[in-house]
Amino acid sequence: MATGLILSSVAMTLIVGVRYLITSGLFAAWTARRFPGRLAGMRPQVRREIAWSLASAAIYGAPAGIVAWGWQERGWTRIYADVADYPLWWMPVSLLAYLLAHDTWFYWTHRLMHRPWWFKRMHSVHHDSRPPTAWAAMSFHPWEAATGAIVIPLLVFVIPIHIAVLGLVLTIMTVMGVTNHMGWEMFPRIMVQGKLGKWLITASHHELHHQKYRCNYGLYFRLWDHLCGTDRGLGTFAAPRPRDDRHDRRQPAAGRQPAPVD
Ligand SMILES: [Zn+2]
Ligand SMILES: [Zn+2]
Repeated sequence: MATGLILSSVAMTLIVGVRYLITSGLFAAWTARRFPGRLAGMRPQVRREIAWSLASAAIYGAPAGIVAWGWQERGWTRIYADVADYPLWWMPVSLLAYLLAHDTWFYWTHRLMHRPWWFKRMHSVHHDSRPPTAWAAMSFHPWEAATGAIVIPLLVFVIPIHIAVLGLVLTIMTVMGVTNHMGWEMFPRIMVQGKLGKWLITASHHELHHQKYRCNYGLYFRLWDHLCGTDRGLGTFAAPRPRDDRHDRRQPAAGRQPAPVD
């Protein structure tokens, strides 16, 4: 049993790590093609982003491996493989339920991470990327990565989901994590600035979080940001600038930034 669990966790770590390298690599290459020179001078930051992200891969891989083993060997979880097990309409509903639940967890833990104690010790790692690149998708302190790593493995015990829909959830999570950090908007302006963009988070929204820190905390949806008054709209993409204070562990001073009461 122990060997099976360890092998499964190692396999999931490899899958998450390789998935990260391929996805971030592809979008980083696309960025370099579209904006030649964009990543010039950012090698030390990119190296840091990759190192933290690969460490996160192991932290994501461990619980995922345990759940995958339990599903295969012991019939744990509410993951189903036969489409006929639930009505067809459940597939899109479960997709939305997973994204909403993950978004809710992320919003509130992310706000916690911006409290000074947590920010200094954990979340500053993610905000060391200024501006972030496609490699920053999983660039988190290990403790913060752990808070993100448990969400889907816990949800599969609560909300029934078809294995293909689960694959879609993980794909959306991976692609949006990368594209929201890559420093440019890949979605058409008509969508981002239209009605859909009012509720969906893309790179333009998350970029402002990385510029102002105390707003735009959401992951997929702007729902919680709208409800809690932390939505400051869309940001613009500044060209990378040389920085000499990369390891500054503080958020911008509250006096200089609009700081909603947490
Ligand atoms: Zn970010
Ligand atoms: Zn943050």
